[in-house]
Amino acid sequence: MDRSERLTGNADTALERCRACPSKLMQPVQWRRLGEDLWEIDLRCPDCGGTARECVPQEAVARYDQVMRRARLSLERHLEAIERVDPTAERTPYGDPAPDLRILPEDFGPGAEAA
Ligand SMILES: [Zn+2]
Repeated sequence: MDRSERLTGNADTALERCRACPSKLMQPVQWRRLGEDLWEIDLRCPDCGGTARECVPQEAVARYDQVMRRARLSLERHLEAIERVDPTAERTPYGDPAPDLRILPEDFGPGAEAA
């Protein structure tokens, strides 16, 4: 099978878009370089669980890499903003729950329903 028969997309193929739902969060599961300008990528959608296998040129892979790089930077900026709002968030990834949200043993003891 030659390259043109294998291609499922072109340089503009949006690998981040799910084929089964509106999600733009398709994630690479596996990348294989099949040739000088040919990549096979297995993708999975975190929203619907849909999967896809795409064969695309290098340019589409480079474009997808940029999309993921921008998404990671955006995520890092949001996490930094959360840490600025709540400096205690640095102790654990999600911070400790507020005291009134903690689940305590007495929540399950006798009289817990009366509280
Ligand atoms: Zn999906």
